[in-house]
Formats: sequence, structure tokens, C-alpha cells
Amino acid sequence: MAPIGAKTQAVAVFNETLAHAAGTAHFAPEVDALFEIGGQDAEYVSLRVEMAWKTWVQPRVRRRRLPSGVVAPAPEDMDLFLSLVCLENNGNPYPPRVVNARAAPIRYDGAVARHLDYQDHRRELDENRYVYAVVSRRARGLSIGVNLNPDKACNFDCPYCQVDRTTPGGPSRVEVADFVSELEDLLRRAAGDLWRTPPFDTVAPQLRRVADVAFAGDGEPTTPPEFAAAARAAREARDRLAPGVPLRLLTNATLFHKDRVRAALADFDELWCKLDAGTEAYFHVVDGTRLPFQRILDNLLLVARERPIVVQSLFLTFDGVGPDDTEIAAWVDRLSEIVAQGGRIDHVQVYTVARAPSDPRVGPLGRERLEAIATAARGASLSAAVYA
Ligand code: SF4
Repeated sequence: MAPIGAKTQAVAVFNETLAHAAGTAHFAPEVDALFEIGGQDAEYVSLRVEMAWKTWVQPRVRRRRLPSGVVAPAPEDMDLFLSLVCLENNGNPYPPRVVNARAAPIRYDGAVARHLDYQDHRRELDENRYVYAVVSRRARGLSIGVNLNPDKACNFDCPYCQVDRTTPGGPSRVEVADFVSELEDLLRRAAGDLWRTPPFDTVAPQLRRVADVAFAGDGEPTTPPEFAAAARAAREARDRLAPGVPLRLLTNATLFHKDRVRAALADFDELWCKLDAGTEAYFHVVDGTRLPFQRILDNLLLVARERPIVVQSLFLTFDGVGPDDTEIAAWVDRLSEIVAQGGRIDHVQVYTVARAPSDPRVGPLGRERLEAIATAARGASLSAAVYA
């Protein structure tokens, strides 16, 4: 235990389970969960969500290999785990207390593993104002983030937003020259010494590559007047220093109708556009804005007629209640209408809340429901998958 703690610069190692989690996160970052089946107990630890779930089951469960394909279990996959254990228990029904044990989460501290990814979402790079980096297992590499909203300004006020607006942001004006300098510096370092610099020196070798450059950040990236200049500068830097790395824009599409924004879209390889609702009323709730829903739909169609877009849709719960079937059907209808009017949707990403939301009533939607939503989209001939 002690050597692992020293190697990973752990602040604490609580037991062998978290030690295994730390080691796995470092040496096999593609692993999403651990199933530990021992002679006295069995445990499930998710590395994909911030909570690790631990349960105790019947003694004398024999070891068995999990079937291949169990690569991304969610907490619901505990059911699979239990069913496997039940099989090993000769089909004996499982005692209810085991299921109830799910209510006892233990915290998986990202600091244990010093594994950088979206789970802890730390933005590394010291004094940078605009450019940050996270290592993403999903992207299978370094995702270079661009934050053109250090002032934290956004024309949405999504209750699920994870930007901490209780502390003041920085200046509104984007210094494009400074932004370019930060981006070029990171792109150069990613080709060399970055991986010898803490905390990036702990990243698994197979993830030491730039996966993308993504305009995202602490607000809507298209709102600053300097957006177009920043987009052009980013494209030129990418072409020179990291050709082939996709340049992405994550946007709420509210400003696509503006000429200055629309012209700048050409500098991006991919547009990932938010659509969280199917009805006007739910749109105002889930995205916290008074902007008309129709504007979003019109803007998505406008651009999707010119080039394929990726749609990102976040679904959540309010006080434990998620969107009903009527809302989901309306959401599918909106997507279908875009396609029917000549828009191209490359694929739809269905996901949920992964980090602390601004509104404490908000919670994540269960995996099963997310899968049902993706299935509903596929029923309308859309390519859709759950990203959770
Ligand atoms: S659009 Fe993005 S940055 Fe703006 S409030 Fe919503 S989640 Fe936060």
C-alpha cells in the first residue's frame, strides 16, 4: 500500500479497494469499473463517476471472469454484477440487504490516483487565462480546452451548469495574441516536455496525444466580439503545429444567425450543438434562458443545412424527476424536423450531469432512461448514443 501511495502522491489510501482503483486508473485508464470478488465479500468500484460504490455480498463467491464487453458499467450495472454473483451462488435469490447497500457510497478521491480526466475536471496549466488541458479517456488523449469566457458570462443559465459563478470571473475582453501564445505553447509542449511535467507525467503512455482542441469554457464561446479572430488564430495554430487534430466548437447555437459568428464557423472541423429540450416550456427550465426556443431550432437548421452538426443533449432530474415521455417525444420531433427540412445531424450525444450542478435540485438521470432516450432518437433514424 505504501509504495502505491508514494508513487501516486496519494493524500490518503483508505483500503485495498481504493488502492486498486488508483492503480487501475493510472495503469489502465480505459477501465471504467472494478469488480472484486473475494472469498469473504465482493465489491464494485466505478472509476467513471466520482462515487465509488461498494457492496458486501454473500461469502464464498467463487472467482469468475467477467464476460468481455463489460467495459462501461454504470451504477445500474450493479444488477449485472449481482446477477453474476447469483449465478455463482447456484441461483439463490439475493438478500434485499445487498441491494440496499448501494445507499452507502464511499468517495473515490481523484487525488489518490492523480489521474487527470473529466472526472475531476481539473484544468491544469498554471497561469493560463484561455487555454487549459484535461486528459480524457473518452477522447483517448489530451483535450485542449479554449475558454473565451474567463468572465464566466453566458447567455444561458443552465441549472446543471458546473461553472462556479459564486466567485468573480476575469476581464471580458479576449486578448487574442495572449490566447494564441498559450495555445501554441501547449501544442508545442504536447509534442514533448509536457509529459515530463507534473501532473501530466502520470498520464498513461497511450493517452499522451492531443485528441482535440475544443472551444468550450465558462460560457457561450461565440459571444465575445473576438470569437472570429480567436477561431481563425486557433485554426492557423492547429494547422501549423498539430495538423489532423480536430478543432471543435461546443455551443448553444444561440448566435448562429449573426454574420460574424456564422462566418467563423467555417474555421471549425466540428460543431457540437446543444439541444436539451423538445418544448418551449422545458427549454426555459433546463437552459435557464428567456431566449425563444424557435431561435435555437432555426439556427440549428440554418447551419445543419450547410454541414453536418453533432447534437449534444443533456437530460437530468429535478428533485429526482426526469423529463417525461411527452418531452422526449417532442425532442425527437424537433430533431426529426431538422432532418426533414434538409438539415444533417451526424449523431446525437445523450448524456447527463457528471459534476456538481449550480442548482442543488438537479441530479443525474439514470443510465437506463438515457438509453431509452437514445433508443427513441434511433427510432427516428438518427444515430444516437449515450455518453455518460
Ligand atoms: S450554456 Fe454551458 S456555460 Fe452556459 S450556463 Fe449552460 S452549461 Fe453553463
